[in-house]
Amino acid sequence: NLSLAELDPEVAEAMAGELGRQRDTLEMIASENFVPRAVLQAQGSVLTNKYAEGYPGRRYYGGCEHVDIVEDLARNRAKELFGAEFANVQPHAGAQANAAVLMALINPGDKIMGLDLAHGGHLTHGMKLNFSGKLYEVESYGVSKEDHRIDMDEVRKQAIAAKPQVLIAGWSAYPRHQDFAAFRSIADEVGALLWVDMAHFAGLVAAGVHPSPVPYADVVSSTVHKTLGGPRSGIILAKKEWAKKLNSAVFPGQQGGPLMHAIAAKAVAFKIAATPEFKERQERTLLGASLLAERLTASDVTDKGVSVLTGGTDVHLVLVDLRNSELDGQQAEDLLHEVGITVNRNAVPFDPRPPMVTSGLRIGTGALATRGFGEAEFTEVADIIGTALATGQATDALKERVVKLAQSKPLYEGLEDWGLLG
Ligand code: PLP
Repeated sequence: NLSLAELDPEVAEAMAGELGRQRDTLEMIASENFVPRAVLQAQGSVLTNKYAEGYPGRRYYGGCEHVDIVEDLARNRAKELFGAEFANVQPHAGAQANAAVLMALINPGDKIMGLDLAHGGHLTHGMKLNFSGKLYEVESYGVSKEDHRIDMDEVRKQAIAAKPQVLIAGWSAYPRHQDFAAFRSIADEVGALLWVDMAHFAGLVAAGVHPSPVPYADVVSSTVHKTLGGPRSGIILAKKEWAKKLNSAVFPGQQGGPLMHAIAAKAVAFKIAATPEFKERQERTLLGASLLAERLTASDVTDKGVSVLTGGTDVHLVLVDLRNSELDGQQAEDLLHEVGITVNRNAVPFDPRPPMVTSGLRIGTGALATRGFGEAEFTEVADIIGTALATGQATDALKERVVKLAQSKPLYEGLEDWGLLG
């Protein structure tokens, strides 16, 4: 019964280092968040010991009476939170959820049509090295060259010509609402099923501050760990008629035993996501992104060839366009890293620079909103980023402002006493 620190000091030390990094820097990777103590506890629990292949009440293993309760809580809370008829909470991650969705909806060789990876789509929407690009025929739509938005008339024309079996909405890097009603009508027109991958904006949907795809889509998949703020994992929601096919695509189609500790953590996250505090946090997330977009369209920034794709944002992220800037994506990412702000470089549509360098940054506000950032803190961090990008300098003054902000909103206070570090 040695503690982690006693048994494995090397791992314990790296974990403590990561906690320090999360505390001392400003996390602005749009796909990340900070889970609360209760979620950490569920994940670090004895539920990791239990095999529970199958579904509640119909397992292939004995002793599932307690984990059945957990999975039922998670399924029912997910359905209620999103107003869905069906939920599967077993996918280990977003990519597994998406593999199961396609496995349930269509056959290998059928055609899918989603947003191009280079224009903000996800790997699992048809990238050629991903299972989705290998198993299915792929047609991708993009954003328009003029305003970098998805033009639904173009999507319609392309769908009529390509006749996909599945039309995909959802994205990893797109700063605007998508028109789910228009996607539904195009899907109906061409006889396609509509799958929406709401991984990025699921927390906003849960809080009612972003349109919900659930009424429109045949199937909706999501991760739980981005704006939704839960454990690293996936879920699938759908109309009732897809229940059997989706369940069998997840298990035994894609996975073996579900991660019951992660499912417990999902149940906790869905409970939290139904609270007024969660809604207020998502409102701060949106406020932070719009303050950032505003700062990054000020003249000191735009004079240096830096701009914001689509001129602003409707969601939790801003896409910085560096195509006309001397800084490339890699240099800008490194510059902000030096200041103490973590973001990721990201290809912009029609990017002239190679994918490992890119001409863009994706900057998200979900994690800092969870940390307690409001208007004052987001205004300050936006100014730090704007000043760094305008001057190209990671000055001591900027670094000090980051430290001050981080200290003003401490993260995981008391975690050392929770017994999680060993
Ligand atoms: N779908 C979208 C839209 C995403 O952005 C992501 C993650 O980046 C995923 C799916 C995959 O999630 P995971 O990394 O959990 O497999």
